[in-house]
Amino acid sequence: MASMSLTLAVDLGGTHIRTASYNDESITPISRYRTRTNAREPGVFDRLAQAIENVWNDDVTSMGVASPGPLDPYTGTILATPNIPEWRNFPLAQKLSARFGVPVHLDNDANMAGFGEWTFGAGKGHHNLVYLTISTGVGGGVICNDALLQGFHGLATELGHMIIDPDGPPCGCGKNGHVESFSSGTAIARYTTEQIQAGQKTSLQLDGAALTAKQIADSALAGDSLAISAFARAGQYLGIAVANYLAIFDPSIVIFGGGVSQVGDLLFKPFEKSLYEHTFHPHYLDNLVITKAALGDDVGLLGALAWARFKRNNESTRAE
Ligand SMILES: [Zn+2]
Repeated sequence: MASMSLTLAVDLGGTHIRTASYNDESITPISRYRTRTNAREPGVFDRLAQAIENVWNDDVTSMGVASPGPLDPYTGTILATPNIPEWRNFPLAQKLSARFGVPVHLDNDANMAGFGEWTFGAGKGHHNLVYLTISTGVGGGVICNDALLQGFHGLATELGHMIIDPDGPPCGCGKNGHVESFSSGTAIARYTTEQIQAGQKTSLQLDGAALTAKQIADSALAGDSLAISAFARAGQYLGIAVANYLAIFDPSIVIFGGGVSQVGDLLFKPFEKSLYEHTFHPHYLDNLVITKAALGDDVGLLGALAWARFKRNNESTRAE
């Protein structure tokens, strides 16, 4: 082979930094590495650079990075991410590019996950896709007519911060009544805790430690009616949210990732009922695929890989 060109992918998460290098044909990494982010301690950039060095190879010609936002993907700058307090207007792509000598393509983790599912996962072959990740927060990415929707400032699409009820519960972002404040794992745990404090009967116990969505899911599966109703409520609001997304994006597929979406019927039966009830016109639902994400824990890495490859192909085409 005359020249081999490798792509390096980075998934910078709140708890872990994952890095991997790939050759051009494959989505199986040549080498991979994982370390703790320790996001609240100084030196995140140094830990990140080290994690990249661990999978570095001189044949790497480009790098893709999935990072927590909000960020500006056009300049590669992290604006201010609550997950990494020491980064404010931090020129991440520029710093990585200066250090490693290759172009660095950056976007937020949910956009990269959506792009990864579209390129390699559950969304292959679709032209209009909505990806939603439901875990401690709610994130989203949209493919619109075969392009990742990034927007004027690069801040599209914050699907978790769509306003459902301005008088609703507080969101992780500090505003009120966003999708995330009704349908995230955090929201499910908060609602359940409030109901217990208000005297609702349940097998769950408040013994100092905060309840988790996982504990509540286990209780729901064992038949606890408060736990069941907490997921039903989250699903109902999720149905309202997705009805809004259908009206705006008219996708052919909606893909659900993230830990909370693993609970299955507990969330998705009430979700579907609510979606049908709130969708503006039934034609949006014709042949609409609603499915689980396919790429698992590697979704951030594979999204960053897909994005870096896409940018490289796109830029070389444009230069001709
Ligand atoms: Zn919010």
